[in-house]
Amino acid sequence: MRYSRPVRIILGILCLALLFWVTDRWYNNSVMSYDIVNGVIKKDSGEKPTDISDSGEEPADMSDSGEAPEEEQEASAVVVKPAEEAKPERPEVKKAAELGLPEPPEIDINEWQYVLVNGDHPMDPIDYEPSELAYLNMTGDDTEIMTTFDPNRQMVDIRIAQPLVNMVQACKAAGLPVYLSSGYRSYAIQAANFERVCYNNGITDGKNAEGNYITMPAGCSEHQSGLCIDITDYYHEIKNDELAQLPTVQWLAEHCADYGFVLRFPYDKTNITHVMGEAWHFRYVGEEAAKYMTENNLVLEEFLALYGVE
Ligand SMILES: [Zn+2]
Repeated sequence: MRYSRPVRIILGILCLALLFWVTDRWYNNSVMSYDIVNGVIKKDSGEKPTDISDSGEEPADMSDSGEAPEEEQEASAVVVKPAEEAKPERPEVKKAAELGLPEPPEIDINEWQYVLVNGDHPMDPIDYEPSELAYLNMTGDDTEIMTTFDPNRQMVDIRIAQPLVNMVQACKAAGLPVYLSSGYRSYAIQAANFERVCYNNGITDGKNAEGNYITMPAGCSEHQSGLCIDITDYYHEIKNDELAQLPTVQWLAEHCADYGFVLRFPYDKTNITHVMGEAWHFRYVGEEAAKYMTENNLVLEEFLALYGVE
């Protein structure tokens, strides 16, 4: 008996479908099903799981009723999941704990606001210039952030301009006068500063008798980063130890962390910064770091060391 071609094709497909169905049934009946209890694969053969507890004791609810314990029934519905991705270890947390400090903020320590500039860490490149400067009114009488050069304004990296304006306005609102005395300084300006201060003090290395810098060699001044600012008040432009008594700088020391700034060279940390105490020099590090550093009395060198930056 001969069938037409379409009929043969349909019969062929039906035979194949039948073959698949039979094979599938056979497979399901013969393959052992598996179950998961406490993350361990075991045969679902009614045998008592041997690795359900470490103590070797039989779990209390393995009753004689023949029913699987509740826990096991629940567990059998659990979908096999890959092990949860382990959180990357944070060495800074361990280091902080060793020093009795709370967990430091989870930050990318390579971001721009954490750059370390000191006598041992010059700018990179040494003649670095901020990519964009902002020009701010020195007494905070206007809050405009200008982007074109104005010799009557103070320069900072534009990325810290808004937090700085906010801090200055808050200080003024507290009734205290403000004067932005010195912000960004180029390599050339710092080189000239260094020469002048060394000459005036009869020194060549920029250091006082205690071995702390009173002026930084060109390339090693944080001012070249544009991320810091010397703030005095309008009536005390000369920066000396008397400034520590000024209500303006005292207010700033107390509140600067709220705006992402820290007092960079405290008097009690000269053994770490190797810079004389400067009550007027504020450095932007962002709010998270500033709050952690201030609450735990850390300077930037100590903070960065937690993250392995030495
Ligand atoms: Zn300064």
